[in-house]
Amino acid sequence: MTSSSRSARPPLNRRLAEFGTTIFAEMSALAVRTGSINLGQGFPDTDGPEEVREAAVRALRDGRGNQYPPGPGVPELRTAVAAHQERRYGLTYDPDTEVLVTAGATEAIAAALLGLLEPGDEVVALEPYYDSYAACIAMAGGRRVPVTLRPGDGSFRLDLDELRDAVTDRTRLLLINTPHNPTGTVLTREELTAIAELAVERDLLVVTDEVYEHLVFDDAEHLPLATFPGMRERTVTIGSAGKSFSFTGWKVGWVTSTPALVSAVRSAKQFLTYVSSGPFQYAVAEALALPDAYFAAFRADMLAKRDLLAAGLAEAGFEVFRTAGTYFITTDIRPLGESDGFAFCRALPERAGVVAIPNAVFYDHREAGAPFVRFAFCKQTEVLREAAKRLKAAL
Ligand code: PMP
Ligand code: GLN
Repeated sequence: MTSSSRSARPPLNRRLAEFGTTIFAEMSALAVRTGSINLGQGFPDTDGPEEVREAAVRALRDGRGNQYPPGPGVPELRTAVAAHQERRYGLTYDPDTEVLVTAGATEAIAAALLGLLEPGDEVVALEPYYDSYAACIAMAGGRRVPVTLRPGDGSFRLDLDELRDAVTDRTRLLLINTPHNPTGTVLTREELTAIAELAVERDLLVVTDEVYEHLVFDDAEHLPLATFPGMRERTVTIGSAGKSFSFTGWKVGWVTSTPALVSAVRSAKQFLTYVSSGPFQYAVAEALALPDAYFAAFRADMLAKRDLLAAGLAEAGFEVFRTAGTYFITTDIRPLGESDGFAFCRALPERAGVVAIPNAVFYDHREAGAPFVRFAFCKQTEVLREAAKRLKAAL
């Protein structure tokens, strides 16, 4: 092949060409470049519990996990994941055959879709969706079928009839996320019951991203889909130490499901990273066994941050949707006389010294997401106060 014919074809394949650079990389770079407060990418600006960090240091020093850990994850962590699911939800999993450790939830999502989908299979997913879903469905040769959560009564809700109508004979799986990024919606018992009934009736697999399981507020309750009738045997549940313990850089996630489904996910996972995060796996095993008091304090702290930022955003003139879970508040910018979230977020660092994420990036129906903008509140109180002050002064 000559160099001219090589350059005639763009190097990036067609499956990925539509995705570009993730919004998180773009916006975090913008925050650094402009010296802005970064309420875009969802990562805490303080680290998780000291004793968990110390556990990682101990593992490193003791030489645990410095060489390839076992493919499915170290036994200590698989046992701790199973114990956590039982303690919190009454779900029992065999640590040897029903738990898989992954490089964050991101790899769990990728491996689940690569391991479970045939080319052409349809995946019904809640829109707006976390950006890696669309890319991973595409990499697996699947077709995404969005069901849009619509604003009403102060939050974003799922239309169960739309969900039902989205399922066809080609649907292989439902990709669910609760608590939901970016809207902050936590699916209710009624909604989850309906999803479960649909999955059983149409014999669908369900991949459920529950990385924000510990971040639910007020009277919302996190109910794992696997606890609903007929679901344990068809559900792949995904969790993450990044979100539950504020160590997003460690990239430790996990999958729980049946032996057959875990084996399918592992088949793909073994050729993605094979294994990762050796010493951190031991530390996360200790984190999962922290007493309930840790989880209660974590939740209370995030709740206070949510309230602080929500009040600041309202004062600055945004319409603020109710966040029942996650790190995020979704706002509507129309009361500010704006309608294009992309343009708004690109201008915001210069205007106000704050970075946020345009929700439109999480939509196939871009126009449906155009006026919505997401702010992360997993930041220190003084940072949130300063951001609110800047927004109020600038908008
Ligand atoms: N799923 C959702 C809904 C997320 O918000 C994120 C990251 N914030 C992930 C998955 C990825 O998690 P991890 O960092 O563990 O890969
Ligand atoms: N999940 C985080 C968010 O939604 C970001 C993760 C990432 O940067 N890929 O902000």
